Amino acid sequence: MSDGSQPGEKPTYKRVLLKISGEALMGDQGFGLNPPTVERIAGEVKNLHDLGVEVCLVIGGGNIFRGLQGSAQGMERTTADYMGMLATVMNALAMQGALEALNVHTRVISAIPMDQVCEPYIRRRAVRHLEKKRVCIFAAGTGNPYFTTDTAATLRASEMNCEAIFKGTQVDGIYNKDPKTNEDAVRYDAVSYDEVLQKNLKVMDASAIALARDNNLPIIVFSLDTPGGLAGILRGQGTYTTVG
Ligand code: UDP
Repeated sequence: MSDGSQPGEKPTYKRVLLKISGEALMGDQGFGLNPPTVERIAGEVKNLHDLGVEVCLVIGGGNIFRGLQGSAQGMERTTADYMGMLATVMNALAMQGALEALNVHTRVISAIPMDQVCEPYIRRRAVRHLEKKRVCIFAAGTGNPYFTTDTAATLRASEMNCEAIFKGTQVDGIYNKDPKTNEDAVRYDAVSYDEVLQKNLKVMDASAIALARDNNLPIIVFSLDTPGGLAGILRGQGTYTTVG
């Protein structure tokens, strides 16, 4: 078990960052936000919060807009990337609404200031929110084009001194081949950062992995589709892959 705890024990993590792709919020509809799906994931975050863990959240924007797609269709790359960053703010606001409906206190904190909508990113202020057990939803990525929200997640997790990044996906870890199309695919319990980079395993993009490696930040890849799965892992249960 990655954190040394036994099933049923209290979590040994004090502060973690959860990274969710934008696509995780779109449900079966293929685009945008599906409110029941957002509510379900908010419930998973609440379970984690209820364990007493301080929670940072980074949500992607791929369910609405990706810069690379825009530039492939002829848009200027930086403009398209800013649109992608704005998409993450929409997702962050949707998640904030769902969490507050569950009585979880939150703050949306944006790398691009937009005062009427959310807080600007100020590191010490964000740390204070976490200490007060508010879930901090970091929006607008790193605030820079040419990056992804995976890199933003690694950056914020490092700045907030998180003990690990939890990367929610549709499968319960990293496999040697796609488990959805290959019955004989094997799940790794643990892989090194260098293995992920060398074998080009699809976990996070290379800059995010390299930043995590340089800061000794473990990445735990787990399935968001397992009800209670996230809180279970924090208690040392369930299946997942640790990158470290
Ligand atoms: N983006 C960016 N800089 C960042 C983070 C994100 O330019 O620091 C843009 C980029 O265009 C990206 C989009 O925002 O495609 C949405 O983020 P991402 O693709 O990481 O979302 P996910 O795949 O996790 O849903």
